[in-house]
Amino acid sequence: MSDEYDVIVIGAGPVGLFAAFYAGMRNLRTLVLEALPKPGGQITALYPEKYIYDVGGFPAILGRDLVTELYKQSNQFGADFRFNERVESLEMLEPGHLRLATTEGVYFSKTAIIAAGIGAFQPNRLNVTGAAEFEGKGVSYVVRERERFLGRRLLVVGGGDTAVDWSLELRNWASEVTLIHRSDYFEAHQRSVIALYDSQVNVHTQNELARISGSGRVEQAVIRDNVTGEERTLDVDDILVCIGFRADLGPINQWGLDLEGRKVAVNRWGEASMPGVYAVGDIAHPQDGVSMNLIAYGFGQATLAVGHASHFIHPKERVMHGHSSQRKGMKYSPVPGSAQAES
Ligand SMILES: Cc1cc2nc3c(=O)[nH]c(=O)nc-3n(C[C@H](O)[C@H](O)[C@H](O)COP(=O)(O)OP(=O)(O)OC[C@H]3O[C@@H](n4cnc5c(N)ncnc54)[C@H](O)[C@@H]3O)c2cc1C
Repeated sequence: MSDEYDVIVIGAGPVGLFAAFYAGMRNLRTLVLEALPKPGGQITALYPEKYIYDVGGFPAILGRDLVTELYKQSNQFGADFRFNERVESLEMLEPGHLRLATTEGVYFSKTAIIAAGIGAFQPNRLNVTGAAEFEGKGVSYVVRERERFLGRRLLVVGGGDTAVDWSLELRNWASEVTLIHRSDYFEAHQRSVIALYDSQVNVHTQNELARISGSGRVEQAVIRDNVTGEERTLDVDDILVCIGFRADLGPINQWGLDLEGRKVAVNRWGEASMPGVYAVGDIAHPQDGVSMNLIAYGFGQATLAVGHASHFIHPKERVMHGHSSQRKGMKYSPVPGSAQAES
């Protein structure tokens, strides 16, 4: 089939982007299909302004900057990208020939790499008086621009890494940050919790948000001590709710692949139960390995899956090459200001 891709990557999260890059390195004609309007997956949707400290080569990098670099890297070989297209079905016509239907069209490919993360996801909404009324008018679930909190009085609700990280980060922008958590124990990195108690963030554990009020915008939050039942009114400008998110595998459930809970079961090479189909990143459940929801781990899985996809298409090709070297047609843009850019 002339319009058949070598590989279709489902999902343009960090791991899908890296898989697309690697597919280009292996000379594979590649299409990336993404349900959201932008690349970056969870990073873009949930923490574009959080620093990431555990990706090789970057001692610390803002989520959005990592996505920019990954997107540039994945684009070097002319991969096709289609955003706002959710893959609805994946079926094998015969081994080595897949048909994928999205909300917008139909595509054919020899192989597919599922990098759909946790599926379609959305933050858990708070179910208290005023939360729905003031959503977008002071109540938010995702930080899109830290600058927006400059000089404001912020209440953060939650007890996990997201709530703790944002409280610490936004303390640099907001005039005052208060963090409330219904338990007396934070489910967050110990280092962050120590930093939290050393910081100027006002921390109230065993407290819940009771209701929100204001005229047109958030002005007050009433918090309740869930041991004594005592209520207190805080004057606040913004409320950031970080109480987790719900994920839905959506159509992937119907593709006839072996699943393990909400993940696609794969062997140690990243192959799913359908020939030529691989799963990488958060969505993959290696049956005889470990599952780790980390970007760095997903990059390794993507490299392995692309190697196997390449070998699947061209059996004479080695699964892995020992090193990377510049490919013909590769558009490498040196970092502005670097020695390479100056020369
Ligand atoms: C608050 C928070 C902080 C984190 N901090 C770190 C950190 O510091 N370091 C670290 O290593 N990890 C961190 N993580 C985890 C990290 O974000 C994930 O491991 C990573 O995003 C997984 O990448 P992925 O590409 O597998 O999936 P995702 O990022 O989930 O991307 C999957 C993409 O697939 C798309 N998709 C899903 N279904 C379909 C479909 N049917 N059709 C088309 N597209 C589809 C989705 O829209 C999404 O864009 C953090 C996670 C959270 C929530």
